[in-house]
Amino acid sequence: MKRLLLPLLILLPFTAQAACPVPGAEITVRREDPEPTLAAAPMLALRTQMADAQGAHGQHLGVTSSRVEWRTELSARYLRQPNGTVCAVPDRIAIELVHVEHAIRIAEEIPRDGCLWREVLAHERRHVAVNSATLRETEQAVGRAVRHWSRSAVARAANAEAATAVLQASLRRAVEPSLAAMRRARARGHGRIDSPAEYDRLARICPAEQRLLPPMR
Ligand SMILES: [Zn+2]
Repeated sequence: MKRLLLPLLILLPFTAQAACPVPGAEITVRREDPEPTLAAAPMLALRTQMADAQGAHGQHLGVTSSRVEWRTELSARYLRQPNGTVCAVPDRIAIELVHVEHAIRIAEEIPRDGCLWREVLAHERRHVAVNSATLRETEQAVGRAVRHWSRSAVARAANAEAATAVLQASLRRAVEPSLAAMRRARARGHGRIDSPAEYDRLARICPAEQRLLPPMR
């Protein structure tokens, strides 16, 4: 009796798992962060853009806009179950975080390459640095989240396409918190730059050029 029990105990969990492929995915996460573009725009246009973007205070001498998109590719390995359905696990995962828009705009009323223009550019470059640093951190965080997710990701569905779709949706849910954290880190970083003291400094610096600017009210 004892001799029979032991192999049974070992075999039961084995057969229960045999229906799904062994987990283990090849994962790549990469980021694309080209240098921001630099252009001039009327102060009025910058004011409209900033009101939409972040409700900042002070004169709108420059704006930095950023838009990050992420793309995923996922392929799955699957095993067909006795009842015709499939069990799938991720096989290859490729994630790209792309700065599809990263643009500095400086008021065209400010003489190019002058004292004020350089100060505004330096200010906007600090925003760019926050955007790039948070994207870099997000690449790391997404990598950790995806590796963690892939170790236990399993989908059972009617066919391979449906199972892959289930894995895709589950992957997006696993990655989304890292992107939400990026949005919060950016808001904090930009908030620290756009302090009342900094706006005050920008409003006083280079007084000769400030006098040439049109009144904003
Ligand atoms: Zn700013």
